[in-house]
Amino acid sequence: MPHPHYTASDFDLNPLMFYYEVTQACDLVCKHCRASAQEEPHPEELSTAQSLALIDQVATFDRPPILVFTGGDPLKRADLFDLIHHADDRGLMTALTPSATPLATPEAFTRAREAGVKRLGISLDGADPVTHDAFRGWEGSFERTLGMLDAARDLDMAVQVNTSITRLNFDQIDAIAEVLADRGVAMWSVFFLVPVGRGMEQERIKPAEYETAFERLWHHARTKPYGVKTTEAPHYRRYVLQHQGDPLAAPQQGTRHAPRDASHRAPLGVWDGRGVMFTSHNGEIYPAGFLPLLCGRFPEDSVVETYRNHPTFRDLRTPDKFGGNCGRCEYRYICGGSRARAWAVTGDALASEPDCIYIPDPNADVVRS
Ligand code: SF4
Repeated sequence: MPHPHYTASDFDLNPLMFYYEVTQACDLVCKHCRASAQEEPHPEELSTAQSLALIDQVATFDRPPILVFTGGDPLKRADLFDLIHHADDRGLMTALTPSATPLATPEAFTRAREAGVKRLGISLDGADPVTHDAFRGWEGSFERTLGMLDAARDLDMAVQVNTSITRLNFDQIDAIAEVLADRGVAMWSVFFLVPVGRGMEQERIKPAEYETAFERLWHHARTKPYGVKTTEAPHYRRYVLQHQGDPLAAPQQGTRHAPRDASHRAPLGVWDGRGVMFTSHNGEIYPAGFLPLLCGRFPEDSVVETYRNHPTFRDLRTPDKFGGNCGRCEYRYICGGSRARAWAVTGDALASEPDCIYIPDPNADVVRS
């Protein structure tokens, strides 16, 4: 999936990623489910007509974003392929994040591709069945997930693997990277836990451990045949910038494992409300799925107007308003810290990233690209 070159002013007007949670319904009960998935669709789920209208509106952004059909399990939605087809007709690039259930068959992937899906997002949270299945809450999930990856590769579909890092799998970063190495994966997206609720606090890794994780991810970004990016850990960008001068960080000569996608070095920071927006199954509009600050509701509110003009979105795009270290950090324009974690931990989405150990240098020039 191409990574368009955006400028800061583009992001004031257009998101890069638009996540549409087409349903909350899912047959799984995963431990860290953002959607608090239910077996049945919510009665207020947007109808087919409303979903088509939402897609039409998304297509009116000056630079239309990548539209990610997510859930719940999007395959639980009967009209999913019609919605994908409509988005494709409107010129939107689309992605799909199916859950690891019996619905995720090669036939379903083929239909998704025929409808226009350009990339699948598949979750893998452990390097072995014990770890992954414990995370996902049912035995057999690991094998099914590997089967989905293999089916996508056989169909020549681009895949982004999504991994949530917590204390439970922190020591498996290298092992997961190896599991992915020969599976034709295009991108490894590593999500760092946003602690919403007390149970999750114990699973949160320590701020210093992020640096260890970043070191391993940066190693794999340079040596594996897929790109690596982080979600809710933009300080990985700061880590990479700090270490590009390190000779050990230079791409290995002669290796065929050059990173295919260098978006971890993209010149602009993308974060909740700045390049990212989210609309829930019932039309609620948020800066991101993990930042539940309600900013509007489709169809009463326009997603385009909300993205551009809602004060919360505008504040999130203004790093000079951030608190603490993030607000004075020279990396605030390309990192800015996780706004979702700041909100989850402090109740203030503009507070400093709670899980960054970096101490800003008051004499350094501000890094803008
Ligand atoms: S202090 Fe904030 S802006 Fe600076 S590197 Fe850390 S998270 Fe990023």
